[in-house]
Amino acid sequence: MRWELPGGAIELVRGDITAQEVDAIVNAANAQLLPGGGVCGAIHRAAGPELAIACAEIGGCPTGQVRVTPGFRLPARYVIHAVGPVYRGTGEEAQLLASCYREALREAAARGLRSVAFPAISTGIYGYPLEEAARVALAAIADFLRRERPGLLVRMVLFGERDFEVHAAALRELRRAGDIT
Ligand code: ADP
Repeated sequence: MRWELPGGAIELVRGDITAQEVDAIVNAANAQLLPGGGVCGAIHRAAGPELAIACAEIGGCPTGQVRVTPGFRLPARYVIHAVGPVYRGTGEEAQLLASCYREALREAAARGLRSVAFPAISTGIYGYPLEEAARVALAAIADFLRRERPGLLVRMVLFGERDFEVHAAALRELRRAGDIT
């Protein structure tokens, strides 16, 4: 599924983010930038031990912000580590989650990259409700493309069937709203 905007395109695919042949993949990192589990563990395994060393040199990253490393053994040239919020229902999570997407896209645009792939940040171990996270993520991406016009292909890589379906529904909804305005 694909949506063309003036500033780029949003694509939804089902798959494994570590296999994506894009300029950068985004990691759903923890604040310590440690390998951990979930998509983060998979990225570290695929990139090789050099990635954990590069992350240790950076030392950490606040929630809602990003840090960039090389991709090492990954097909992607860079890994953009984005620290999503742990969902607690305080109402502050949406801003922090949107910030992850925006800051990652800003780093990609600043480096002149053409393509970047995201996982569904915070929707696994961090417990962010899927429907809500999908809306926040896709709106933040669409907003950035419209405002900054970076000419980026932004691919969301959804691991499970339900993750894909929920994101597809959210993207259709956003596109419908965008066609009206
Ligand atoms: P968080 O701690 O930010 O919640 P998780 O890694 O637990 O991060 O989960 C984030 C999302 O990434 C979940 O939807 C999970 O199913 C998905 N995921 C796990 N492994 C991969 C992978 N190899 N490629 C893409 N997505 C993945």
